[in-house]
Amino acid sequence: MIDQVSKLFFHALAGSHTLKTLASRYGLRRRDSFARRFIAGETVDEAIAAARELEASGLTETLDLLGESVATMAEADQATRAYLDVIERIALSGIERNISLKLTQLGLTVDRATSVDNLRRILEAAATHEFFVRIDMENSPYTDVTLDIMETVWRLDYRNAGVVLQSCLRRSPADARRMNALGIRVRLVKGAYKEPRRVAYQRKTEVDAAFVDLMKMLLAEGTYPAIATHDPAMIVAARAFATKEGLTPERFEFQMLYGIRRDLQAQLRAEGFRVRVYVPFGREWFPYFMRRLGERPANVGFVIRGIARDR
Ligand SMILES: Cc1cc2nc3c(=O)[nH]c(=O)nc-3n(C[C@H](O)[C@H](O)[C@H](O)COP(=O)(O)OP(=O)(O)OC[C@H]3O[C@@H](n4cnc5c(N)ncnc54)[C@H](O)[C@@H]3O)c2cc1C
Repeated sequence: MIDQVSKLFFHALAGSHTLKTLASRYGLRRRDSFARRFIAGETVDEAIAAARELEASGLTETLDLLGESVATMAEADQATRAYLDVIERIALSGIERNISLKLTQLGLTVDRATSVDNLRRILEAAATHEFFVRIDMENSPYTDVTLDIMETVWRLDYRNAGVVLQSCLRRSPADARRMNALGIRVRLVKGAYKEPRRVAYQRKTEVDAAFVDLMKMLLAEGTYPAIATHDPAMIVAARAFATKEGLTPERFEFQMLYGIRRDLQAQLRAEGFRVRVYVPFGREWFPYFMRRLGERPANVGFVIRGIARDR
């Protein structure tokens, strides 16, 4: 219950223009500004530098140029070009070739067909440079269309793409079966959005139980699944299931967010597991940042201290 209230509260705050202006002014201003805990920086160079640090400690990464819900096709085109540039820059840098993106960033809410064209432009460039592209999952009004588009590009032979399923959604077991049958790579998460009871479990215990069930389905029948969580109980369950099924660490990976549970990331790596860190960067970091606060209201304390210090 408290989880849902907190998500709702921060979702509402995320819509505040004043807060966004204030946060954007101070959040990444200095090397130690408050948003830097979760955001690698505004530029691709800063993201690449963060990726190099992760790789030096044996971790891998996926880079996410933040942005979502663009309102015009011109913005969608701009975001697509920006991603094409990111692909070139990553390819030149020599870091691992793996990116994450959101379909509403490519214009999904403006014109579906054009957003698919934009995605194909990115997948083409990604294929040329041997990138993997993860299509993030947004809130439930977009679940169907995101999975449809994933299947469409898969059938068009773009095999360098994968998708995300959220354990909070009641529908996810059926979606996992469909993705597994096609061989599409899935990242499993709990879900970052406030969702209605009709479509989603509201209690943490239910979301966690569903996560464990889906994790087992994906590990047993899926293609190189990513178990994306910072929850030690979920990680223990995944490790136990992998051991029971005789799955070696090359068959799956753990994923965590930049700046969250670095200790756990390092520990899993030291124990021989693959760990990929999601590295968000870019100027449009505010909604992502607010979702991270909503997940853990204790984070608000360090933000307030950071703002007070930086002003
Ligand atoms: C790699 C990756 C990609 C993701 N992609 C998507 C996506 O495409 N769509 C989507 O809806 N969601 C996505 N998420 C977010 C996800 O849905 C959850 O909201 C988020 O991971 C928190 O859930 P949890 O599994 O860590 O468990 P929780 O039960 O929420 O947290 C477990 C523990 O993790 C730590 N923790 C969790 N969140 C925070 C935080 N913000 N700050 C500090 N500590 C924290 C705390 O120690 C907490 O006790 C992604 C998450 C990861 C790791």
